[in-house]
Amino acid sequence: MVLVNDKCIGCGICESEASSIFKVEDWFSHVIKQPMTPEEHQQVDTAITSCPVVAIEK
Ligand code: SF4
Repeated sequence: MVLVNDKCIGCGICESEASSIFKVEDWFSHVIKQPMTPEEHQQVDTAITSCPVVAIEK
């Protein structure tokens, strides 16, 4: 299960990498759906490695 922890600074990178999964509002990224397809899992993995504060957990 993908989640965003309280280290998130709302930079928006995860939404750019996986727009079907993450939605940034009020400087915090929300998981709007869990990844289902291999493509979505790949996008989440990219977001995890791109997050500057290691706020995405899987
Ligand atoms: S990339 Fe990380 S810090 Fe930036 S919005 Fe996403 S979870 Fe938050």
